[in-house]
Amino acid sequence: MVEAYDPGNIFAKILRGEIPSHRVYEDDAVVAFMDVMPQGMGHTLVMPKAPSRNILDADPATFGPLFAVVQKVAVAVKKAFDADGVTLMQFNESASGQTVYHLHVHVVPRFEGVPLKPHSGQMEKPEVLAENADKIRAALAS
Ligand code: AMP
Repeated sequence: MVEAYDPGNIFAKILRGEIPSHRVYEDDAVVAFMDVMPQGMGHTLVMPKAPSRNILDADPATFGPLFAVVQKVAVAVKKAFDADGVTLMQFNESASGQTVYHLHVHVVPRFEGVPLKPHSGQMEKPEVLAENADKIRAALAS
């Protein structure tokens, strides 16, 4: 049985503007923002505005708009950081590694020979997140 969506989760609070985030993209259906504990430079999260815990309970209509933005962000982060590749990650329930229960996709620029840092590891400085968000916004706009 899939658990119910909890509107008190931290990403729901980000969506409602109750806590701050470094947003790089927003449209009617999707928001993208910087991960505060990045596994690599420019680690970005892309989430639908529609509430679901993860892909197990999401309305399939969510995925088209969500993955269109995942692609946009992947292209933008690759360009913004001159990355060699981009890793996507997406976790469903705690056994898989999920820690925040609002559907989201991780978009992480990758560089040859540079391993990913641990998941939910060290908090990045806000000024670094702000600078990286600026670079991604500029790449999205170009
Ligand atoms: P997951 O394990 O897929 O649920 O990942 C949740 C991600 O959210 C982790 O990579 C965390 O570093 C990140 N995270 C947690 N709190 C925040 C926050 N307030 N703003 C941005 N990212 C966050």
